[in-house]
Amino acid sequence: MRTKTSQIDHIIVSTYGIFCIETKGYKGKIYGKEYSKQWVQYLSNQKNNFMNPILQNYGHIKALEAILEENYPNMVYHSIIAFSAEANLKDIEAKSASICKIAEVSDTIKSLSINEIISKEDVDKIVKIIEDNKSMQTDFSHERDIKKLKKENEEKIKLNICPKCGGKLVEREGKYGKFIGCSNFPKCRFVVKDKKLD
Ligand SMILES: [Zn+2]
Repeated sequence: MRTKTSQIDHIIVSTYGIFCIETKGYKGKIYGKEYSKQWVQYLSNQKNNFMNPILQNYGHIKALEAILEENYPNMVYHSIIAFSAEANLKDIEAKSASICKIAEVSDTIKSLSINEIISKEDVDKIVKIIEDNKSMQTDFSHERDIKKLKKENEEKIKLNICPKCGGKLVEREGKYGKFIGCSNFPKCRFVVKDKKLD
């Protein structure tokens, strides 16, 4: 496993795919939705907006994908958003990213390391490609990225692919009846909330 820092806070290339980690040092209560442009931070007497970090990381992942897709079209990208210990994360639901505290990043990576998809030699090759593309430009357009991310998540769910870990979505039985969730449970806790069972 090799780590590199660039525009993306951290990129970890491993045999389980590429982990893109966006770290945020915000304190206070944090509210946000996957497809909203801005998230909100509440401090005792202050309210601040900041850019949706899922979307921000999505843009970074798209830039990485653009330089790797020729050689690695089936690469799996894991989006991790890590907040400081002082952040109070309120009702944040994310389909395509894992939201955690900075101290939990390594556990989150472990939990997403389910299927090995490339060899150690490929890891070295990918690190080299990324290093050779240091000028990697991200072309941000939030409106477009929100639509793209939403569409991608919907398409994956339609194909029974977990948008969080790339695993399979299967029918599972829980306390409250049947539902569609990730077959990699309990490592991945993704659940489809808006898909009806026939
Ligand atoms: Zn999953």
